Amino acid sequence: MNLPSAMTGRRFTLILLGISASVLNCLSQVKTETRLAEEVSRSRLLSQVRDLVGFGPRIGGTSSGEKAASYIVRTFRETGYNPSVVKDPSHLTFEYKAWTLAVEEPRQLRKLIRNEWIGGFSPSVAGTSSELVYLKDVGKATKAAAVGKAILTGSSFSEKEYRRLAEYGATCILQISPRLDDAYSNWAFINDLSPSKKNPIPLFNLSYRNGESLIRALGDSEKVVIRFSTKTAIDSTRPKTVVATLDGESDKYYIVCAHGDSDSGGPGADDNASGVSTVLETARILKKLVATHQISRPRYSIKFIVWGAEIFSTESYVKLHAKELRKILGVLNLDEVGIGASRNCLYFESNDVSQNDSLMKVLDSLACEYAGKTGFWSEATTNPSQGGTDSYVFFPQYLRRLKVPEVKIPSVTIYTAAWNELKAIPQTPGWKSKAWHGPEDTVYVDYSPYYHSSLDVPERTTEKEPFNMVVAAKAVGIALVRLAW
Ligand SMILES: [Zn+2]
Repeated sequence: MNLPSAMTGRRFTLILLGISASVLNCLSQVKTETRLAEEVSRSRLLSQVRDLVGFGPRIGGTSSGEKAASYIVRTFRETGYNPSVVKDPSHLTFEYKAWTLAVEEPRQLRKLIRNEWIGGFSPSVAGTSSELVYLKDVGKATKAAAVGKAILTGSSFSEKEYRRLAEYGATCILQISPRLDDAYSNWAFINDLSPSKKNPIPLFNLSYRNGESLIRALGDSEKVVIRFSTKTAIDSTRPKTVVATLDGESDKYYIVCAHGDSDSGGPGADDNASGVSTVLETARILKKLVATHQISRPRYSIKFIVWGAEIFSTESYVKLHAKELRKILGVLNLDEVGIGASRNCLYFESNDVSQNDSLMKVLDSLACEYAGKTGFWSEATTNPSQGGTDSYVFFPQYLRRLKVPEVKIPSVTIYTAAWNELKAIPQTPGWKSKAWHGPEDTVYVDYSPYYHSSLDVPERTTEKEPFNMVVAAKAVGIALVRLAW
């Protein structure tokens, strides 16, 4: 019988055609990913961070936040986008205009203050000289000890204790940074006062060593006098969030985002000018590949978003889009991709929530394929939730809190460092990545010694380890090619 053999022959041809089509697809995908990776510009990534840090802390709604938002709009426009600016609801913001802090007496300590930093929500005060007194425990302060004095302390204090010190007549507080193995010895961890227009006295954050030097001087019965002044603005303002869309065939979309403010109120090069710069660079490259027909228009749209204020602006976005949250196919949030003190690792968080499974598998598989290749990460892993960044706003329990539909949106944060010391966290069972060089059951979360500090500046972070942003941009770009096309 001829018929079956003819059928078999046709089927064989179809199978062959099918195989060759998928091989071609695969080849063109590899080509696209290679082109994309080649296009990532280290110098652009670095200069964008320098530019952003140059504006100041970029708190959404303040003048440096406005400058940063305009810069982001301009950069999106220059790369072919038509960005929109969303004015978020108003919230209380802090901006310093100027501040000074110096030791007046003893003379030999006059050059001590170098990398200290003003605490957020400090009020404006004219130049004041005060004798310094060390209080080990602020909670035990007496009026006699505090009146007319600048208070030096290493302890944390409550709102109530702060207000009591002011009532006793203290003029300001100098808080000493915590002692960690690798952080804050010569630079200051930035603590803020509670957001309020009515805080009575300013707060300054001191490096650990300078705190020690002052305690020693006081212990030697030396009289220590400091002089300080602050000019600040505390107002209700509206952060600006910038959105640029790469249009796809569908109005369903992926979000690639980063918080645009330095949430510590410091320079924020790693946290989070690095994330913003990586969003801008990924957006530029994908637009260029589409515009030059090196890649087709994507199946799904991609929204590149720089939040005016971390969490606050993200919450506002979710509330504003409450009726169309189902259109969001996934969120890739970049937060701290500028440094990694102890490993060269790219992390993908959160692998412990079920709606993230398929997105995490895409990320983990590309992480394994490229790990160790020239120009890529040497190590990568997914890790369980740690919280505290914009990706969490898209999770069902958070959506419930915001009283919007509890849609299951896959949402991931990509980073190279978190916190200020190495943290070991149990790995989610089943998620040991082939790209992870550490133990199977533990993830060592890398850190930044400059986390939320006065020296989270480009020279210490992004300039020292420029490859972090480069590999983050490559990973996000490749992930999008696999997800949105
Ligand atoms: Zn951050």
